[in-house]
Amino acid sequence: MNIASSPEMESIRDMVIRFMENEVVPVIADYEAREEFPRALIKKAGAAGLYGAMFPESVGGSDMGYLAAAIIQEEMARIEVRFAHCNNQQGSSCPSCIYFGGSQEQIRRYVPALLAGETIGLMSLTEPGGGSDPSGNMKTFAKRDGDVYRITGQKMFASMAKETDVGVLFARTDKNAGAKGVSAFIVHPKKHPGWNAQPVDMMGLSKAFRTTVLFLDDFVVPVEDRLGEEGDGFKIAMQGLQPGRITVAGKALGIARACFEDAVRYANDRTLRGQPIGRFQMIQSDIAEMAVAIDASRALIYQAASALDQSLPANRLVAIAKYHASQTAKMCADKAMQIFGGYGLATEYRISRLRSYADLFFTGEGSANVQKILIAEDALGYKLADRHHGRTGLRDIRKDDAGAQIAATEA
Ligand SMILES: Cc1cc2nc3c(=O)[nH]c(=O)nc-3n(C[C@H](O)[C@H](O)[C@H](O)COP(=O)(O)OP(=O)(O)OC[C@H]3O[C@@H](n4cnc5c(N)ncnc54)[C@H](O)[C@@H]3O)c2cc1C
Repeated sequence: MNIASSPEMESIRDMVIRFMENEVVPVIADYEAREEFPRALIKKAGAAGLYGAMFPESVGGSDMGYLAAAIIQEEMARIEVRFAHCNNQQGSSCPSCIYFGGSQEQIRRYVPALLAGETIGLMSLTEPGGGSDPSGNMKTFAKRDGDVYRITGQKMFASMAKETDVGVLFARTDKNAGAKGVSAFIVHPKKHPGWNAQPVDMMGLSKAFRTTVLFLDDFVVPVEDRLGEEGDGFKIAMQGLQPGRITVAGKALGIARACFEDAVRYANDRTLRGQPIGRFQMIQSDIAEMAVAIDASRALIYQAASALDQSLPANRLVAIAKYHASQTAKMCADKAMQIFGGYGLATEYRISRLRSYADLFFTGEGSANVQKILIAEDALGYKLADRHHGRTGLRDIRKDDAGAQIAATEA
């Protein structure tokens, strides 16, 4: 399996760097100061192709693949992690759920606009009862009432739920059926009453891209906006989250690299006892440990992404890559904080913010412990991580028939 980054991948990387430096970096601080969601910037990123890498052209994607998607997220997070955070809504879990669970009509109607950044997405699964066991404690209930469902309950950490145009929300339709009692719905918060999203005050995270607690009170969803059949929701959620794990790993790598680059610069600039602190051996030890972990993480992520691109079994590789990248991001953020001394806490520098995002990606989309369980159960032979490969489990976006069928219908 070839995991080397090719000239094509490097030109994608260059394109992302140019976009971030020219379009995002000059304006992001103003959006943050105004606590304003940068809708226009998302549209520009969509037009530049930053969200569509994993999706086929027939649904508005660029078909560049998982490695490209990971590299895009790596560079976005390295340069401006706050802006990278909304990839999930635009280019990953939200459109993936619609792609995997939707009819051709639903895919056609919603996926291209999300990938283009023209509509703002949402993927709301987590509830106050616990994100790591989403179906076990799901209390939000969707009650069928003729041609509509009425949804009542509370979702937690529903990112961008105040701005969402079209999203995917999970609710229980059968109280007694466990994971098989969960259904998935395409939601239009601006069209119907009963949607109340309140931003959660998060330590060190963006004020422009907010996560929320979402209160639903008889919120209406027409039956035609259900994804799949009643009871398909949990399966759709698991499929929709899977492609995003490699992009979250890419983001964590970007954070680690940002910490490393800032720490190297600072260690060369900061002079103590008549010499740059980079000359102190204990600082060198930290720099060396960061460099080694980053290179290892990059190799693991590119290997897992390349396996996905080649439709090889990749669940185990993705779990290992995500776990290692999130550990590396946390370690690099901690070491960078130490190297910066007291200045690490000053908002003039971005280190403490990077540390908050390292914590986020450690937990989000399958926490570190959840990845470890998957890796260990595979190793112990209790549950093979790739047991579904080529059978009923994960569908492969790039080889999936939905895109091909749409292309054939439109040809
Ligand atoms: C900023 C932010 C944005 C988010 N955006 C979204 C979003 O848009 N949509 C959405 O649906 N969710 C979102 N989330 C939720 C996120 O996915 C959850 O936080 C995550 O799934 C963990 O859930 P939890 O926080 O409830 O922790 P819990 O599930 O309560 O876990 C607590 C701890 O227990 C550990 N744990 C869990 N199970 C086991 C086990 N079997 N063995 C050992 N340890 C275990 C976990 O690793 C964790 O350390 C967001 C979260 C944050 C912080």
